[in-house]
Amino acid sequence: MEECLFCKIINGDIPCDKVYEDEYVLAFKDIHPVAKVHVLVVPKIHIKDYNEVNDNNILYISKVQNAIKEVAKICGIKDTGYRVISNTGKDGGQAVPHIHFHLIGGEALGEKII
Ligand code: 5GP
Ligand code: ZN
Repeated sequence: MEECLFCKIINGDIPCDKVYEDEYVLAFKDIHPVAKVHVLVVPKIHIKDYNEVNDNNILYISKVQNAIKEVAKICGIKDTGYRVISNTGKDGGQAVPHIHFHLIGGEALGEKII
């Protein structure tokens, strides 16, 4: 996806503050953090949102889910706890149409989901 912001970050065309990378996953700091730790964990293929998850790309989503604890460990929040959020579509508040998982923590986040 030539026009996708996160694909450009994955390809190295746009710089990021990288936290973790493997064959399937890239994690980088959110440019507008909402907490002391705010990292975006993304699959290294273009999947627009949850509606596009399928049997052909589920491996990438699985790898992202498996990597989140490693990213949390690197960020020093594995044991203090964190929140993982993924937005889909207009009502979900998704601004970047490449599926991603917000890893948020480093401070008490409160009880509300939103
Ligand atoms: P969404 O609203 O789609 O769930 O989340 C998109 C996130 O991407 C936002 O939290 C926003 O701050 C972040 N973001 C947007 N553009 C950039 C960018 O160029 N670099 C980084 N690191 N984060 C970005
Ligand atoms: Zn993309």
